[in-house]
Amino acid sequence: MSLRHCRTMENFDIYLTFDIDQDFDPNSADYYNRTAAKFDSFGTGFQKIIDALGGKAFSVFVRSDHQIKTVYGDYGYLINSNPSLIKSIKENNGELNWHIHLYEERDNEWVPVGESRLVSSFLEDLCNVKSIPEINWRIVRIGECVMNNELMAAINAAGIKIDSTALPGRKRDDSEKKLDWLITDNLPYYPSAQDYRTFGVDSLNVLEAPMVTIPMKASYDKEPILRYVNLSFKTDILFQNIEEFIRNNKSLLSITHPFEVLSPGTHGLIAYDMEVFRNNIKELVTRVEKFGKRPVFKHVSELTA
Ligand SMILES: [Zn+2]
Repeated sequence: MSLRHCRTMENFDIYLTFDIDQDFDPNSADYYNRTAAKFDSFGTGFQKIIDALGGKAFSVFVRSDHQIKTVYGDYGYLINSNPSLIKSIKENNGELNWHIHLYEERDNEWVPVGESRLVSSFLEDLCNVKSIPEINWRIVRIGECVMNNELMAAINAAGIKIDSTALPGRKRDDSEKKLDWLITDNLPYYPSAQDYRTFGVDSLNVLEAPMVTIPMKASYDKEPILRYVNLSFKTDILFQNIEEFIRNNKSLLSITHPFEVLSPGTHGLIAYDMEVFRNNIKELVTRVEKFGKRPVFKHVSELTA
């Protein structure tokens, strides 16, 4: 029998990730207020997202850091204040990884720590998260896609297995944000010690698992912008260019925040609608199957299993 006849259907791995971040009010003037650290949608609504996933593997990145400790008195606040929800995540094929925002309080405002303090802030939080058994600190995502070579080296030295901070093709350096993943590709890679954005001969042991970015054009954009695959986005925008990605790749890692599905809101890109979220998952499966591939939902931890 020729090899041709033995060909099996190719798998397409889907990593659904959820960041437990603060609730942002989409209709408020200070939409991105880092100081308003409220997490109501997680406790009150995340079970609805679990139910919508219907047993598919998913990965949750839970905030545990200096801001959480300062505001709520407990690094494990999001875990300890929602015991039945945490149980439900584990029982419904979810895993709990670590999400950290490297912020500090200055003049009663929470702001990103300066570049020179990234590593010391990370190490302080790392020391504390290790006392929370529910959170797998060996898989981390840094808030606002912050990274530099020193921080990646510290993540690597700490024994972290997977970092999922990369936002391929994006770079910002302004008063609001500083991030640089301009030359990064969508595929997981072992970052170079000389340049965290790409692989190299001197690669570190930590695997970088980027949040996949695909060109999308919302009605308010002049040109398409590389945006992460977020299942809360309006379906027509999210799927504009996803087929080309599916055709040419073997896996996709998405990112969604609970409030983008659970909170009411009006926005040009985010639907704020559970039905849209449900439909986007269905649509993703349909598009993968359209290319003769078998969609397989996996945990981020399986990337190095
Ligand atoms: Zn975050």
